[in-house]
Amino acid sequence: MSVQVAAPAVELKELSGPMDKAAGPPCEPVAAHPPGHGVAAAPCPLPATEREAAPASSSSGGGERPPLSGCPGLSAATKVPQASAMKRSDPHHPQHRHRDGGDGGGGPAAEALVSPDGTVTEAPRTVKKIQFADQKQEFNKRPTKIGRRSLSRSISQSSTDSYSSAASYTDSSDDETSPRDKQQKNSKGSSDFCVKNIKQAEFGRREIEIAEQEMPALMALRKRAQGEKPLAGAKIVGCTHITAQTAVLMETLGALGAQCRWAACNIYSTLNEVAAALAESGFPVFAWKGESEDDFWWCIDRCVNVEGWQPNMILDDGGDLTHWIYKKYPNMFKKIKGIVEESVTGVHRLYQLSKAGKLCVPAMNVNDSVTKQKFDNLYCCRESILDGLKRTTDMMFGGKQVVVCGYGEVGKGCCAALKAMGSIVYVTEIDPICALQACMDGFRLVKLNEVIRQVDIVITCTGNKNVVTREHLDRMKNSCIVCNMGHSNTEIDVASLRTPELTWERVRSQVDHVIWPDGKRIVLLAEGRLLNLSCSTVPTFVLSITATTQALALIELYNAPEGRYKQDVYLLPKKMDEYVASLHLPTFDAHLTELTDEQAKYLGLNKNGPFKPNYYRY
Ligand code: NAD
Repeated sequence: MSVQVAAPAVELKELSGPMDKAAGPPCEPVAAHPPGHGVAAAPCPLPATEREAAPASSSSGGGERPPLSGCPGLSAATKVPQASAMKRSDPHHPQHRHRDGGDGGGGPAAEALVSPDGTVTEAPRTVKKIQFADQKQEFNKRPTKIGRRSLSRSISQSSTDSYSSAASYTDSSDDETSPRDKQQKNSKGSSDFCVKNIKQAEFGRREIEIAEQEMPALMALRKRAQGEKPLAGAKIVGCTHITAQTAVLMETLGALGAQCRWAACNIYSTLNEVAAALAESGFPVFAWKGESEDDFWWCIDRCVNVEGWQPNMILDDGGDLTHWIYKKYPNMFKKIKGIVEESVTGVHRLYQLSKAGKLCVPAMNVNDSVTKQKFDNLYCCRESILDGLKRTTDMMFGGKQVVVCGYGEVGKGCCAALKAMGSIVYVTEIDPICALQACMDGFRLVKLNEVIRQVDIVITCTGNKNVVTREHLDRMKNSCIVCNMGHSNTEIDVASLRTPELTWERVRSQVDHVIWPDGKRIVLLAEGRLLNLSCSTVPTFVLSITATTQALALIELYNAPEGRYKQDVYLLPKKMDEYVASLHLPTFDAHLTELTDEQAKYLGLNKNGPFKPNYYRY
């Protein structure tokens, strides 16, 4: 039997429900260490066999869950049986502690100990200081031009990767006055914001309205929020890219009852007109394109250091905001109910804090949720690789020889797009499983050395370092294009190209020709940074999936009864992922098949999901 998913049976009422407040602590952290997250993941305490078996039992035993016609994950999160939970935390989980930075920042000197039940007591002074990069709290009033350029390493990678090519009506260079030196008010007389130019609000509103068209799930959540406000009382401080898509998220959070204050997680990526539109509609936004490092921290500080307003939720992308609060205002964590983190870098930091026993509130790792991983990595890259290459080089893809290093999600997306355009695609891999997948998908598996002289394009997608070395670069043919789609700028050894015998010529924004003494030149895109984030747009629909996941994670953490989530890092429950996906299906007029009672019994599933065990690989 097939049913249309047009209106998933979700009442916002259920989104905001008490969520089993009486049920007590429901479960262990759900698979709190992301598979493959090599950094802070503590070993799973379950023996391997149990780990494999556990999720199965969760699906067969999952029939106990109430049918989730509402936002499924919300109560599902609490009901995952212990057996299916893959707890990552130290069995001797200590009390979690944080302390004032003690760096003259002016905060209270006492350390706070937050016990798992949420009570906060003063800690002995022997607790180790949390190790963060140093930051200033004395802000420079007028950052110099040099100051603007000298980015400290303390800003996370996500702070400098940029969605720079998104539509912008204005150039940050059109007005040299720092927004910090301007007196601006919105039409309602509020000056609680700092943006480039409030007069650009109308342009920004247009961008937001365009984005709304491609963000159906958030718009659906808003509709359902008309009666119920699952985020009523929530005071969310956010630090993300400030784009039209983020604006749709923020306005949705507002519609769900939250108050928000926002800064940018990236000094380049803010769309000034969107920031202006948000400020005009009353959101305290502190962000503009081309912030200096000092501005960056100042903006974050303006979001949290407010008289009469204290955040109780954090939405972060890169961990800088969380870092700042830990460093400067640790006592704020007494009121904060949770952190939702989107990026690899930020999640990495959270796991480090958790491993050190210093995470003092629950955190949701949105980055490793299925809906983010699969859609952001695979489909987003499939859509944006050609765009990035085309915008920077105007090249034709048909018949070109391309080597893609790494056949994970990102590599698969790139290969699929290039193959569809008629390119001849080679793949390099270190993992025999992914290598076999590449072969079976019809790609030639090679070592980079074997094809480096003949290919027209080299694309790295491994998340590894020095995949393309100076030796490879020396051997490439004239006009070979080199770019990276993987994490940060480590994959191509760009530093090795900064030697006296090579000449660099900037031929376009984000395009450098590196010229060898014999006249050979290679075309280096975005200096080896992520090509699509630097040189193309990212599909709004994909961002919608991530933004919806963030919104649901906030709702879940905000509404969870005390004790449900400990001071640990959690993955979203699968039901929530399924719910996010279902909210996007109506866009395609997709008709989802519903299990019959008999089938559900046969498979040992609840008819409303979750439909797969936690270990399932999509
Ligand atoms: P993944 O782990 O699924 O895939 C990476 C693949 O590279 C793996 O199969 C691994 O075996 C392979 N690999 C590692 N070292 C290699 C080497 N030296 N040579 C050849 N292959 C090698 O990861 P993913 O999801 O595909 O992400 C890859 C990178 O892209 C990550 O750094 C991720 O953060 C980044 N990413 C980029 C975007 C984007 O929009 N550009 C989106 C999501 C993720």
